[in-house]
Amino acid sequence: MAALPPSARSLDLAAARALDRLAEAAEVLLPVECAVCRAPGTALCRACRLVLRRSCARPFEASSAAPLLDPPLPVVAAGRYAHGLATCLLALKNTGRTDLVPVLGACLATALHAAARDWPPGPVLLVPVPTTPSARRRRWFDPVRLLLDDCARRGVLPAGARVARGLRHGASGSLLPGPAQKRLGTAGRRARPSGSLRCAVPRGARCVVVDDVLTTGATLAEARRALRAGGAEAIGAVVLAAVRPPAVPLTADSLPGRPGPGVHHL
Ligand SMILES: [Zn+2]
Repeated sequence: MAALPPSARSLDLAAARALDRLAEAAEVLLPVECAVCRAPGTALCRACRLVLRRSCARPFEASSAAPLLDPPLPVVAAGRYAHGLATCLLALKNTGRTDLVPVLGACLATALHAAARDWPPGPVLLVPVPTTPSARRRRWFDPVRLLLDDCARRGVLPAGARVARGLRHGASGSLLPGPAQKRLGTAGRRARPSGSLRCAVPRGARCVVVDDVLTTGATLAEARRALRAGGAEAIGAVVLAAVRPPAVPLTADSLPGRPGPGVHHL
């Protein structure tokens, strides 16, 4: 009997295992240093880890600061795009510091659990906004998907939620990555044509869009449009960081030093 061709998923897993081995080898060859203060010997030193943990312990509702997300969509942010969180996220995206994935994944998990309190009962698909094809070629991985997959592997996703590659880039354009998006003025972001994403989830699926940085909300608006066009429903969004200051924290039980049940330790 002829052997079956390997599926895309099995190839993905094989590539991930190979990259893990390369990363382990690189850790032996290259000195590790704190991504924030550059102290030697660890991906994130104890002091910087504590600061990051505090900055992400109070997820907040961020949609009110996203002018292009109209009509509004509930958006929960793990923290502000500043200081250690911004530094760690940039280190992951720009210099391939995948050793920060567990730390940033824990921040994202805390925000997911805070958001999940308002989700209706039943299954929910967590749909990462895909990185642009050019960025993926440059950095060989998709940061948001990497963080979500890490949360799934560690079993810290909210009950009933699973990760799905529900959005793909279409041929009509591509979303700009966060830093490039921030360089645009508001008018430039508004002028960007919609239609850059297409839906890849079953009709009727209830989705929560997950992205790294919330700036104006244009990316989430395009994600919602694409899901709707495919017959799915976006019930909310979760981002790792929001550029604008937080509104009121979501819960009082996630204060620093008193983590609630949804707070995941870094
Ligand atoms: Zn440090």
